[in-house]
Amino acid sequence: MHDLLIKGGRVIDPETGRDEMADVAISGGRISAIGTDLGPARKVIDATGLVVAPGFIDLHAHGQSVPADRMQAFDGVTTALELEVGALPVGGWYEAQAKTARLLNYGTASAWIFARKAVMIGLELKAGEAPITVMGRGFDDPRWSTDAATELQAAEIVALTRKGIDEGGLGIGIPAGYAPGAGAKEMSLVCDLAAETDTPTYTHIAQMSNIDPKSSIEAYVTLIGLAGATGAHMHICHLNSTSLQDVERAAAVIARAQAQGLKITTEAYPYGTGSTVVSAGFFVDPAFSARTGTGYNAIELVASHRRLEGVDDLKAVRQADPSALVLWHFLDTEDNPRHRALLDVSVMYPGGAIASDAMPWSQADGTPYEGDEWPLGPDKTAHPRSSGTFTRFLRQWVRERDAIPLVEAIAKCTVIPARIVESCAPLFRRKGRLQPGCDADIVVFDLASSADRATFAEMNLPAEGMRHVIVNGQSVVADGVLDVSAAPGRPIRRGDA
Ligand SMILES: [Zn+2]
Repeated sequence: MHDLLIKGGRVIDPETGRDEMADVAISGGRISAIGTDLGPARKVIDATGLVVAPGFIDLHAHGQSVPADRMQAFDGVTTALELEVGALPVGGWYEAQAKTARLLNYGTASAWIFARKAVMIGLELKAGEAPITVMGRGFDDPRWSTDAATELQAAEIVALTRKGIDEGGLGIGIPAGYAPGAGAKEMSLVCDLAAETDTPTYTHIAQMSNIDPKSSIEAYVTLIGLAGATGAHMHICHLNSTSLQDVERAAAVIARAQAQGLKITTEAYPYGTGSTVVSAGFFVDPAFSARTGTGYNAIELVASHRRLEGVDDLKAVRQADPSALVLWHFLDTEDNPRHRALLDVSVMYPGGAIASDAMPWSQADGTPYEGDEWPLGPDKTAHPRSSGTFTRFLRQWVRERDAIPLVEAIAKCTVIPARIVESCAPLFRRKGRLQPGCDADIVVFDLASSADRATFAEMNLPAEGMRHVIVNGQSVVADGVLDVSAAPGRPIRRGDA
């Protein structure tokens, strides 16, 4: 007797290429069989007319809370990882998460940038403090962002980062764009640590610009050099946003580096609008407009939906609240066909993952919201990608435009991200696949109606089309309705098998 039988769906396994009508049986949180006439089950889901696929693995999820999980469940996500920033101390982060009713599987990298804040300015790192909050601290003394480390400081930064990996961190978060002062010697030592521990690094490149010096291309070439110089696996976060309008050139240099066998991977999210904190250093670059091709009116305050008027306005907002969240409309994908084509290059990059960069949910006053309200009220804001990344990709690229075959699209949301992280936790070999023995993280969705609904005006609208979302064999969404008591998410740490 199986625990659960998903009957009569279009079963897709992106690793083997399986794409056929079949039943999927689940027992003990794992997939026990796939085929027909699999025998009785305690519970049956009728998947007639629906796609049955592995749950999506999001490598870039900053939300890490119950409301964030709920919104991502409707987007098909079953594993949400905070890798680009990470956490420190890592042990304290996992302890804090274990006290909440997480729906999705979760994990974090070790936060190099927090190690840097601790060493360079003596910032105290508190166990369990949300990474987004730590990102906003230390702006009264920005040496952690602007200064190169001495040899002694670099050794201390590496030692603290190593502690995070030892406590279970899934690699090293390197949001270098927030600390562009970090030098090549320090970065080479950080990457040595990644190579030694066989864990990836996840980089937000040190600078974003379409003009030299300090162009995005310079940063990608430096990253490729680090992969070659240290043997580290360098994962490039959000190729779409950090390349700005140079994504074709960026894709070309990355592809050539990969063809030479360097361990480089990448991801993108299907939006031309980014999200960050107002204190991000590149906003105050005197050449901001020349470098990015946008003006300050492309920056929108999340809490008020107000567009900035100029650099003085930006500085005033930074002063008042350095961790205030902003949207940055860097590509005009609504009206500019050229910009849409650029987004395509990043989203459709061969072998690249789809990853959301989902932002945490905030309340009207800008403070984080981690409460239990459901549905989330319209006063809760983040970024539409926090609720609609994967369904937007399915809707636009697969269904509406037929730009990518469904099996390939699902691979970009499942087995491709799983492979990116599996060197550090063999457990990922059981995720992102729909095969007997794999973890029962499964989505059952209606391709014809799968769609993101969140917009920049209404970010709180859950996506639609996910009829059933199953995490470790347990239903999180059933018949399109959230089970508000479900909490099957499990921690994933380095070394987990
Ligand atoms: Zn980033």
